[in-house]
Amino acid sequence: MTRTILITGSSSGIGRATAKQFHEQGWNVIATMRGPEHETELTALDNVLVTRLDVQDSASITAAVDAGLERLGRIDVLLNNAGYGAYGLLEATSMDKISRQFDVNVMGLLETTKAVLPHLRANGGGTIVNVSSIGGKVTFPLGTLYHGTKFAVEGLSEALHYELASIGVNVKIVEPGIVDTDFAGRSFDFTNDENLTAYQKTVAAFFTAQGQMSGDAPEVIAETIYGAVTDGTDRLRYPAGSQAADLIAHRANTDDATFIGGIKLQFGL
Ligand code: NAP
Repeated sequence: MTRTILITGSSSGIGRATAKQFHEQGWNVIATMRGPEHETELTALDNVLVTRLDVQDSASITAAVDAGLERLGRIDVLLNNAGYGAYGLLEATSMDKISRQFDVNVMGLLETTKAVLPHLRANGGGTIVNVSSIGGKVTFPLGTLYHGTKFAVEGLSEALHYELASIGVNVKIVEPGIVDTDFAGRSFDFTNDENLTAYQKTVAAFFTAQGQMSGDAPEVIAETIYGAVTDGTDRLRYPAGSQAADLIAHRANTDDATFIGGIKLQFGL
């Protein structure tokens, strides 16, 4: 039987690459996105349903799950990928922006999971893959909100994996390092206030560090996601990309004072 994956945030980056990877491997794909009317490539593929899902819009979540079930009959895997990065000075960031970051990266993931769970339970199993980040294990200055959301994804996924074992559903956490997507462009929402002069040295250091970063292609992360779904194990965490495993291991093996001291040095703090 052909299996089906529902993916959030399929319009670009990791979500799009993963939709193509699963399609190439013969899966049915429910490729969801906020603006399906702009999609042309995925729409042309057999066994791919492109449909609207905005994780901040409850009705769109239900409608996308219903449309997927109607067209493809079942859902076996959910990839919670939709997300973006709100960075910058907490003092300068509006509560609306703070709420939006947690709404999309955390609440949206939980609501989409809740919408799919009854079907997985009725099927007697399935897999939920949550896209976290190295930023769910390691923090950098001016990432208070983004790291807050990804640390939340790490904790909630780990807790949920116990609960869902009772219904045969595996939870997997994928932790990409830096990936060359729209994350540093369209999905990067930076807030500064130059009048807050005390912070400007850190802001400048942040952009210097960001300018030096280079990452993996999103296809590399898509392969890890495919492996996580199909490896037949209940392994929980999958660092993804060329830098992630080493960085996460280094953090785990280094005490706070040493690791954080290194970050401070890098940022001139
Ligand atoms: P991307 O190319 O910018 O993709 C982000 C996706 O999230 C887009 O499809 C975007 O849709 C979608 N999205 C944003 N808000 C949404 C909402 N309210 N409802 C539904 N979809 C929404 O960046 P990416 O790197 O592939 O990011 C995908 C995931 O990987 C994110 O969770 C991110 O935190 C994580 N990640 C990225 C990196 C990296 O370096 N790139 C590293 C670690 C983890 P629109 O087209 O509608 O905006």
